[in-house]
Amino acid sequence: MAELKLKNITKKYPNGFVAVKDFNLDIADKEFIIFVGPSGCGKSTTLRMIAGLEEISSGELWIGDKLCNDVAPKDRDIAMVFQNYALYPHMTVYDNMAFGLKLRKTPKDEIDKRVREAAKILDIDHLLDRRPKALSGGQRQRVAMGRAIVREPKVFLMDEPLSNLDAKLRVQMRTEISKLHQRLQTTFIYVTHDQTEAMTLGTRIVVMKDGIIQQVDSPSNLYSKPNNLFVAGFIGSPQMNFIDTKVVKRGDDIILTFGDEEIKLPQEKAKKLIEGGYEGKEVIMGIRPEDLHDEPAFLEVSPDSIITCDIEVTEMLGAEVFLYMVCQGQNLTARVDPRCQAKSGDKFKIALDVNRIHVFDKETEQTIT
Ligand code: ATP
Repeated sequence: MAELKLKNITKKYPNGFVAVKDFNLDIADKEFIIFVGPSGCGKSTTLRMIAGLEEISSGELWIGDKLCNDVAPKDRDIAMVFQNYALYPHMTVYDNMAFGLKLRKTPKDEIDKRVREAAKILDIDHLLDRRPKALSGGQRQRVAMGRAIVREPKVFLMDEPLSNLDAKLRVQMRTEISKLHQRLQTTFIYVTHDQTEAMTLGTRIVVMKDGIIQQVDSPSNLYSKPNNLFVAGFIGSPQMNFIDTKVVKRGDDIILTFGDEEIKLPQEKAKKLIEGGYEGKEVIMGIRPEDLHDEPAFLEVSPDSIITCDIEVTEMLGAEVFLYMVCQGQNLTARVDPRCQAKSGDKFKIALDVNRIHVFDKETEQTIT
């Protein structure tokens, strides 16, 4: 069993900088979990503490039922794949993959069996006699993974393993890594700053900022139910629109106003704002680009949520069009059908899907509804 428990883990570097603060997480056996966040948020530091490459300042790291804070890296049953692959240039692919096992004095025929099996899984069995410089980036990446696989670890740690590959190969390797996880049936912990990679690979994602966990959730929950403004803005591309608005009560209705525009909220969302005491206050409204609609059918049924925008730029991407617009001095992006005829300079009516509006507290930046 390779279940991991991180309890109140903190990392303070010798210069006094606290890179990871009170990190709490349980990782289930065989789970594929992703640490994601902007550069410097503490993802690699956390991974390196799990690997034993970085000392834990306080807190506890449990792997299975063993407290591992002071266990040497080689005794943790963990293998790590690095961003730069760290292959030995003078060794063949075979020797690169066999090296760790040789150090552990694994019998020669056992090494041979494991190297050939891993090479087959990764489709590099025809490259075993080559040296790294005679390989493409994607092939080197596979060798680096192969070197980890042969050790048959309980936990795989991967630190931005695809970031040196070109965009097309990255997408291809993403699928390969998913398949590898299914095939190996071990725990994967994967670090990336790329939210798309996180969303497509992980069954659970840990979003971090400034050394603090912001949300741990499934990809779909992170997208549809972000905990706060940071997660809402970080997950999704183009990112969620944020508009400064004021909460106005009119009769039984709760309306979000900005400039001359007014959006009536559905009852359930209105209730949360009233209960939270937000009447008369400023809040941030969030709406994803795909929840802005230009179709006549939508405009007809949503008269309370239509706004008029000035289109600044349109971007045709084939299957969809992005409209970059300004409404009452605030920027908005819409993702619409490619048949949309709008062009820059147009005034354009667009309806918000009010059931998909998010509202955030302006000060705490936490989600209200
Ligand atoms: P990236 O995506 O850029 O690799 P990251 O989220 O993995 O970022 P870390 O490498 O974990 O971030 O670094 C977290 C913070 O700790 C950063 O602000 C970094 O400058 C700082 N840091 C890292 N190593 C040290 C060190 N040895 N001493 C002091 N501060 C450090």
